[in-house]
This record gives sequence, C-alpha cells and structure tokens, in this order.
Amino acid sequence: MLKKLFQSLRPPVHVTHHVRTTPEVLNSGQHSLQRGQFSRHAVGIVERLQSAGYQAYLVGGCVRDMLLGITPKDFDVATSATPEQIRAEFRNARVIGRRFKLVHVHFGREIIEVATFRANHPQDEEENSNHSSRNESGRILRDNVYGTLEDDAQRRDFTINALYYDPVTERILDYANGVHDIRNRLIRLIGDPRQRYQEDPVRMLRAVRFTAKLDFGIEKHTAAPIRELAAMLREIPSARLFEEVLKLFLGGHAADTFEMLVDLKLFDSLFPASAEALEEQPTYTHTLISQALVNTDLRIKQGKPVTPAFLFAALLWPALPARVLRLQSRGMPPIPAMQEGAHELIAEQCQRIAIPKRFTIPIREIWDMQERLPRRSGKRADLLLDNPRFRAGYDFLLLRESAGEETDGLGEWWTEYQDGNDSERRVMIRDLGSRDDAPAAARKRKRSPSKRKQADGAPDSE
Ligand code: ATP
Ligand code: MG
Repeated sequence: MLKKLFQSLRPPVHVTHHVRTTPEVLNSGQHSLQRGQFSRHAVGIVERLQSAGYQAYLVGGCVRDMLLGITPKDFDVATSATPEQIRAEFRNARVIGRRFKLVHVHFGREIIEVATFRANHPQDEEENSNHSSRNESGRILRDNVYGTLEDDAQRRDFTINALYYDPVTERILDYANGVHDIRNRLIRLIGDPRQRYQEDPVRMLRAVRFTAKLDFGIEKHTAAPIRELAAMLREIPSARLFEEVLKLFLGGHAADTFEMLVDLKLFDSLFPASAEALEEQPTYTHTLISQALVNTDLRIKQGKPVTPAFLFAALLWPALPARVLRLQSRGMPPIPAMQEGAHELIAEQCQRIAIPKRFTIPIREIWDMQERLPRRSGKRADLLLDNPRFRAGYDFLLLRESAGEETDGLGEWWTEYQDGNDSERRVMIRDLGSRDDAPAAARKRKRSPSKRKQADGAPDSE
C-alpha cells in the first residue's frame, strides 16, 4: 500500500494539472455507465432541470464509483440553476446552507443533493467580494460564487471527482482527464496542489480517504506538499474535522487510512497526544490502534454496527498513561489521577476534533471499565456483567491484550465467566481468592460514598 503511494504511472510534465476549456466527451459506447444504474430520482431531477432549460449532470462520487464498479453512497447533481430556481422546480426541495448553499431534494428516505455550478475564487478580487472570502493563509472561508460548468470542474478537488454524466445523452464530460486517472488508479488534484491544499486543508484528508477507499495511488505532485502543509489542519473548525475523521475511520478502510495519515504527518495534527505516544512507544501504540481499526473494518464489511466511541477510546488510550503518571508524580493518588488524566486528554482532543458528548461519555465509561474488570470478587463480577457498557469494556480489554498489555489472563477469565453457568461462575469467584487484584488503594480502606463514586468512574462532562 505505502510503496504504491508515491508511484505515478505516468508523471505529468507540469506540476499543475489544469482543466480543459472544452471537455473530452465520451459517448455511450465509450464508457461503461448506463442510465439505469443511477438512482432514478437523481436521473429524474437532471431530466426535469434540463427540460426547464438548465444544464444539469450527475457528478462527483457517484460517477467515479460507478466507473469503478462500486455502489455509490449517494448521488449528487450539479446544475446551472440557482438554489432558488432549483427549489422552484421541486415540491420536495429544501435549501440548506452550511459552508455552501445547496438544495436537498427529498424522496422518502433518499436525499439527492443538488448544487449550483460554482467558481474558484478570483485571486485578487476576493477582498471586496461578499460572496467569497479567504484568510491570510489562502484558506477559503466562504464559497458561494456561482460559475459555469467549466468553473465548476476547475474548483473540484480531484480529477476523478470532476466527471459529469448526462443521463439523457448518456455522455460523460471529462474536463480534467479523470477517466485516464481512474484507469490508472491515481488520486490527482486539479490545479496547483500546494494552492489547493492551502485553500482547503481538508483536501489532504480527502486525498488519503479516496486513496484508501479506492485502493489507488497518490500522484506524486499531489502527495508532495502534504507533509509540509499537514499542520494547516489545525486551522480547520473542530466540528468539520470530527465529520471528516468519522468518514476516514468508518469508511471500511480505516487500517490503511491510519498508515497513510501517520506517514503523511496528518495524524499528528488530528491526534497530537496519540502521535506523541506513537513516538514514545511505537510498537504498542501502533499495534493497539491498527488492531482496533482492523476490527472496525471487519465489522463494517460484515454489516455490524460500529461505535465511534470505541474507536476514539482506542485512538486515545495509548496517550493516557503518560498523563496519569505525570499527575501521580505531582502527588495525586492513582485512581483520581486516572480520572483527571482521562478528563484532560479528552478535553484537549476536543479542541482539535469536536467529539460530541454522546461519544465522550461512553469513551470514559469504556476506560473506567478497564479499572473495574480486574475487581471481580463477591457480587462485583455479576454487577459488571449487567453493566450496559460491559461488552465494550470487555472487547477493549481483549484489544489491549492483543497489543501486548499484560493483564494476567483477565480477558480469558471473563470469556470463561460469560460462558459459565451459575455454579461454574461461583467456583470461578471462589478460586479468585487473593487474585482479585483490586487496586491497593481501593482494597485497604472502606471508601466513603463520595470516594466510591469517583473510583467507579461517574463520567464527568466533557
Ligand atoms: P463520497 O460521497 O463517496 O465520500 P464524493 O466524491 O461524492 O465521495 P463528497 O464529499 O460527497 O465526496 O463531495 C461531492 C463532490 O464535491 C466531490 O466529488 C468533489 O467533486 C466536490 N468536493 C467535495 N469536497 C470538496 C473540497 N473540499 N474541495 C473541492 N471539491 C470538493
Ligand atoms: Mg458524495
């Protein structure tokens, strides 16, 4: 995978890959796409817009994926009609405006995203324009300048994402040699790579995501500036990064994605504390995170649900010991140090990537479980089994063991305990005897209710 990364099959003479003013047109006999493969709702929207006199095409990921024989996640339409004009054509349309103004056309559960052709930012005029704006490093802050079809092709990120399919004539318009790059399995930015990353550093993450998802290589000029510009990701709003990180790790290719993120120095900008742990304890950290990601990829392949909380718990876990030790060296007892360390680590991580509370709370619960799983005597084991977070905590324990953490056979014990009947379980608890390794602090003293609450890890809010 990594070896393939920088291979460019046919290195272009120029670094900058421009779009053509007239597209290469592939007729229905020259490509494999058929109108019937596309969402009939998306095709219907294109037909409707065209018969109202607008230009309209299927575009982006759906054309790319179809050419590769992959089932598209969704269908996007690009058109010369403005959002208001689009809305006027459809009863079931809603204008949504986050970074860009778009129209969502609803068909039951299917939503087709319809976007007006947009232009790249005119380099000089943007200061006075109220439609577009950049910051000092060239990053685009607002982006609502409408443009022509050619403009629209130009401002797209990768050549393979700038293919327009007209389901009426069944022709593909290729402005940026995207079909060539699909054939050669290459991720190539349109335009000057450095400038395109500076405009929107998230494109660096998208380059990694598509490379891993499609099992492509990155064209060398597209890869070249990434390491140097990786730190620009710090300027991206944490909420947007959260969404991107989910796409990176929940797309079914998380293990490959992780390798590339580390190699291209992007991981440091996303998970600084974990990157530090990767530096300090490379083998353990790498094994734990990759194993979690391999498991995630497998679950996705099997159609099983995956929880982002488990993923983040694994991504951050290797960074925890250093913090806990630091707090302990300042005189804090082990259990409060663990609680405080976890709190600090998550709070810090949320500055970069806005992990919502509905995930940070379970992250804490999974980690707290790690402290509780060794304490099994009396009724504790059965209470833990009944805990709704038991399964995640147990899976996490197995993950730690698979990364080489020494737990004195705790994972196997819990596997057996779950499989055992009542009397077998009683024997297992009895045999624990003094092996029930509750932390010394917890065993010695009878704790007051408030201390107990702390030790049992009532999650505080992040
Ligand atoms: P998928 O939906 O499978 O993840 P996609 O290519 O459809 O892949 P989207 O995020 O849905 O990705 O974006 C749709 C299209 O919009 C892309 O194909 C690309 O042409 C364009 N696009 C999206 N994000 C950017 C960006 N940051 N810079 C430039 N173009 C972009
Ligand atoms: Mg898409």
